[in-house]
Amino acid sequence: MDEERIEQIKSLIRDVPDFPKPGILFKDISPILADPSGFNVCLDLLAEHYDGKPLDTIVGIESRGFIFGAALAARMRKSFVPVRKPGKLPAETFAIEYELEYGTDSVEIHVDALKPGDRVLVLDDLLATGGTAAATGQLVRKAGAELIGAAFVIELAFLSGSNRLDVPVFSLVKY
Ligand code: AMP
Repeated sequence: MDEERIEQIKSLIRDVPDFPKPGILFKDISPILADPSGFNVCLDLLAEHYDGKPLDTIVGIESRGFIFGAALAARMRKSFVPVRKPGKLPAETFAIEYELEYGTDSVEIHVDALKPGDRVLVLDDLLATGGTAAATGQLVRKAGAELIGAAFVIELAFLSGSNRLDVPVFSLVKY
């Protein structure tokens, strides 16, 4: 049953108040990873959802998106491409800057990481305001690939981040 598996994942998310700054309730996924069944259940649910859908590449967002994204890509026999914070990728990159509550941030991808026509799923641990995932989607398109969806282990639905994404959003646990 999906509901039982989702409850299991929910029970493995730890709330850490006031991290990284006062007023933020941080959703810590470390207990999911520490639980051998919990991590596999996440991958099972994601793989089942995307099984049979047209998909070539999973783009994971630094850094917790790498953990779930790389494991899902290996499980589904898809390629994996990292999107990183500025200055981390060694070869030539495309960058997209996006607004934060205070100031701006940016994400980067290698210019040759995706090919035109590649069908891409963006994956991260958590969708909050959607700024990071929306910028990553723009990067995917800038690299010439086709964005087919965005997936998250956790969605903070009260922040309406999915409204900033113009592709189907799939998340395992919603708050
Ligand atoms: P956003 O761009 O606002 O959707 O923020 C998404 C990114 O910030 C993701 O990479 C998350 O890992 C991280 N993030 C934002 N809010 C939280 C939170 N409450 N708990 C854990 N991670 C968060």
